[in-house]
Amino acid sequence: MTAPHAGGCRCGAVRFEASAEPHHISYCHCGDCRRASGAPVSAFVGFMTGQVAFTGKALKMFENGPVTRSFCGICGSPIAYVDERLEDHIYFMLGAMDMPAYFKPTHHAHVREQLPYLHMPDDLPRHLKTSVPRPANLQSPDGQRPSDGTLS
Ligand SMILES: [Zn+2]
Ligand SMILES: [Zn+2]
Repeated sequence: MTAPHAGGCRCGAVRFEASAEPHHISYCHCGDCRRASGAPVSAFVGFMTGQVAFTGKALKMFENGPVTRSFCGICGSPIAYVDERLEDHIYFMLGAMDMPAYFKPTHHAHVREQLPYLHMPDDLPRHLKTSVPRPANLQSPDGQRPSDGTLS
């Protein structure tokens, strides 16, 4: 399968399409995603914002610090998040994609917060914290990347 990649919410009121391949596919074990999704682990498919188009008027936003999560205002399905520190990127819930099996995660993020009973026996890279470097923590003062995991 190749682009465009489409997706949407449970009720169909929110639909979106991405005109390019994703630049990022990962699991996220953080507590914030857990609250937002209700699931023990989340997974995201990242695209460039300029390659994504939404249709419908049901999309709602919830802002929490630098992160804004979107969801369907009718059925409540989580749709995506954007982070103001990652300009021009949008991360869709993998489960919102029409063809979720196509988007195989390539790593795990925030495994420091992974639930202790959750076992995912794969050989994917595991990042203790974020897998995507935010500009603020791109480099430590000595010019080295932080050692506790900031690369996708
Ligand atoms: Zn909906
Ligand atoms: Zn997360």
